[in-house]
Amino acid sequence: MKTKVCYCDTTLDFAACCQPYLDGQAEAPTAAALMRSRYSAFVTENLAYLKYSWYPADCPADLKLDPCQWIGLKILDHGEYEPSKSAWVHFVARYKVGGKAHRIEERSLFSASNGRWYYRHPDHPDDPDQRQEN
Ligand SMILES: [Zn+2]
Repeated sequence: MKTKVCYCDTTLDFAACCQPYLDGQAEAPTAAALMRSRYSAFVTENLAYLKYSWYPADCPADLKLDPCQWIGLKILDHGEYEPSKSAWVHFVARYKVGGKAHRIEERSLFSASNGRWYYRHPDHPDDPDQRQEN
């Protein structure tokens, strides 16, 4: 059987990396694994998985995929705020639209509930709006 390298930059086979998550055979065990599987879902245009892995209260009701060519994912850093509860992943994703290259850099917030990780939204730990007033 011909194997395919996963889209998400691990150099693993797709079948041993993101595919089981995208096919619903397993749950991504960490926020970083979920982030990778969501990137692979964008590449394979798996809208159902993007909705499945998005925290329901944060997922846009009109979520749709814009046609583009994904070039690659790099996870720069990641960590946990609370083990098995909330975590962040800092990544860069690159894509092309109409021959023009674009770059998304985001630090994303993830949270887990009932043993499942979900993407929440961009995380802004240094944003003054999120700071406590003294
Ligand atoms: Zn993967």
